[in-house]
Amino acid sequence: MFKIAIDGPAGAGKSTIAKIIAKKLNIEYIDTGAMYRAVTLKALRLGVDMEDENAYEFLKTTVLDICNGRFIMDGEDVSESIRTVEVTENVSTPSKIGVVREFLVEYQRKISDSKSVIMDGRDIGTVVLPNAELKIYLIASVECRAKRRMLEREQSGIFKSLEETMLEIETRDHKDSTRKISPLKCAEDAIVVDSSNMTIDEVVSEIIKLVNERGLIKMSEKNEKYYVGQTVTGTVTGVNSNAIYLEIEEGVKAVIYANDLLEVPGKLYLEYSEGAEYTAQVKSIGKDKKNPNVVVLYLSTKLAYEKEQAEAKEKALQEKIAQFHAIKEADEVINAKVLRTTKNGAELLYNNTKLFLSYKHSSLSEDALKQLKGEEIPVIVLYVNEERHFISVSQIAAEKKQKRLAKEAAYGALEVGQVVEGEVVSILAYGAIVKLGLVSGLLHASEIDHFPVRDVKKVLSVGKKVTCKVIKIDEEKIGLSMKALTTHPWEVLKEKYHVGDVFEGTVKKIIPAGLIIELTPEYSGLMPKMEYSWLVNEKYDGVVNEGDKILVKVMNIDDKKFRVSLSHRETIENAWSGIKLRKGEIVEVEVVRDVERGAEVTYKTVTGFLPVNEVSSAKRVTNVTDEFAAGTKVNAMVLECDPNRAKLVVSVKAIEVAKERESFDSYMKEQEQENTGSTIGDLLGDALKK
Ligand code: C5P
Repeated sequence: MFKIAIDGPAGAGKSTIAKIIAKKLNIEYIDTGAMYRAVTLKALRLGVDMEDENAYEFLKTTVLDICNGRFIMDGEDVSESIRTVEVTENVSTPSKIGVVREFLVEYQRKISDSKSVIMDGRDIGTVVLPNAELKIYLIASVECRAKRRMLEREQSGIFKSLEETMLEIETRDHKDSTRKISPLKCAEDAIVVDSSNMTIDEVVSEIIKLVNERGLIKMSEKNEKYYVGQTVTGTVTGVNSNAIYLEIEEGVKAVIYANDLLEVPGKLYLEYSEGAEYTAQVKSIGKDKKNPNVVVLYLSTKLAYEKEQAEAKEKALQEKIAQFHAIKEADEVINAKVLRTTKNGAELLYNNTKLFLSYKHSSLSEDALKQLKGEEIPVIVLYVNEERHFISVSQIAAEKKQKRLAKEAAYGALEVGQVVEGEVVSILAYGAIVKLGLVSGLLHASEIDHFPVRDVKKVLSVGKKVTCKVIKIDEEKIGLSMKALTTHPWEVLKEKYHVGDVFEGTVKKIIPAGLIIELTPEYSGLMPKMEYSWLVNEKYDGVVNEGDKILVKVMNIDDKKFRVSLSHRETIENAWSGIKLRKGEIVEVEVVRDVERGAEVTYKTVTGFLPVNEVSSAKRVTNVTDEFAAGTKVNAMVLECDPNRAKLVVSVKAIEVAKERESFDSYMKEQEQENTGSTIGDLLGDALKK
């Protein structure tokens, strides 16, 4: 086991070199700068006064960890966040604070305690590992370091000028080397390596050469022969009240302290004497302080027992860790008991294991968590550190998952066709969002009513309770409809009215085209003007008024145009419907009674008129009934017949005249035949001569 310390100013290449050497020597690399950066990041996030020593109380609950080369703080991977310009510009402040240094130095010593490491920083050779086998003080000119830093940053997309970077480095160097506690300085026994004009490979070779010269690798090879837990036998070379010293082989010594003995005898030196053989297990391996080439094995006889105990403990822990890994893998929500709260988070207990809930991962405030002491809260495992048995959890993630599950369940419970109650939570230009418990759906403007809704705000408002039908479920999109729950008003109308139906309708409006008759609250029908009466001269003007009732018949229901046409005259019997008479036609009429200037006569279903001067050509008649008593059926000639005006005028006289004409015509014809060759002109000429 050996330690290499690399110190030096910012940008000298410490971390690059240390990482390569760690790989080559198969030892661990510890970046202490990252730790100061992490503390700075947390201080910045908490917004504390970094100059104030008391502001670092948060360190008590800060958990740092290195896992697979990633830097973890309080369960969060901060490897990238600690490299920001903001952190770099502020890191010198926490680095000069005593409590910060004490906290980090102790942590650095602890994690490098039982293994070979290469550690870089500012105070490694002077403070953290004063006994390091090899100490390097790596330097380079400011310009050279600034250029390297610029290159490094450019890869992350950060651009700063050379001057700015040089100033930044100089400022940090100055702060680091002038601070009171553990300033950056070269340890007395450190070897200074100036990397200004050296490549990375050259610096690495130089350090490996020093490692070889110091026999560090050789020593580690010897170490390899011995391992912790190994049973070794040696010869006692000395005993005092506190320890037994042994020699195992040349260059390998051993020591066993009283408290490492399973059964402690009264006085060590009475029990063990020089030259005797002694067997025990290797507890740890080190080197002789005076001669680093001599390996010292620290032995114990309690080891097997302790090992058993430790193994059992470890097994139980590993089982727990495995359990938490499984919980994490399954993204399971567990209920953990709140034990106590600290400045940075709450300590919880689940299955006898402590969990850490950072406030960052909790939607509950410190006070709220304090109130919940002893109660269980749901959490999800975020991060499990196997070595440190540190488990960080998130209550926010659990809350989110529970919400998501409940939401999924709510979605799952919905079905197309289902009728749901909801509340309008927002009004959009094209509809409204309706909350249905945990989920929400869209009520499109076209689904509100059977008639177009142009302004949703006019019919719906936030907070309004609505009953809708689920008409679509697409992934997590729910389509709702209000109109689907009501029958289309047109269908309602069609249920109520059928072609041929006669009903008494209310005149809603009188328009030039006819009468608007109310049918349902949504629809009206039109009775065209000409549908009022069979007679063209019979008008409703002045007879029918808005609000009046009128008997109408449904003539047509147009599904395409949503129109209903009505007729009033179709409700009245038309006596003239079968009457088709031509002028000159002879009909038999019945005289009914005298009227002014003639008589009322009937023909089939209709009433006609026989003017008094159309009764006879031979004599003057005063009353028709003087000639034809009421009830007399008489033949008459049609003078005029207009069913549209209910008009029939007949003449008896016209038949007489026609007869006279006919006899005259036949007489004339006979005469013509007798005087063959004579024309009517000749006959007339003859008559005149006579
Ligand atoms: O090495 P890096 O640039 O990451 O170090 C950041 C800062 O952390 C240094 O400028 C210094 O202020 C501080 N630091 C320290 N002691 C260490 C390591 C780093 O003070 N051992």
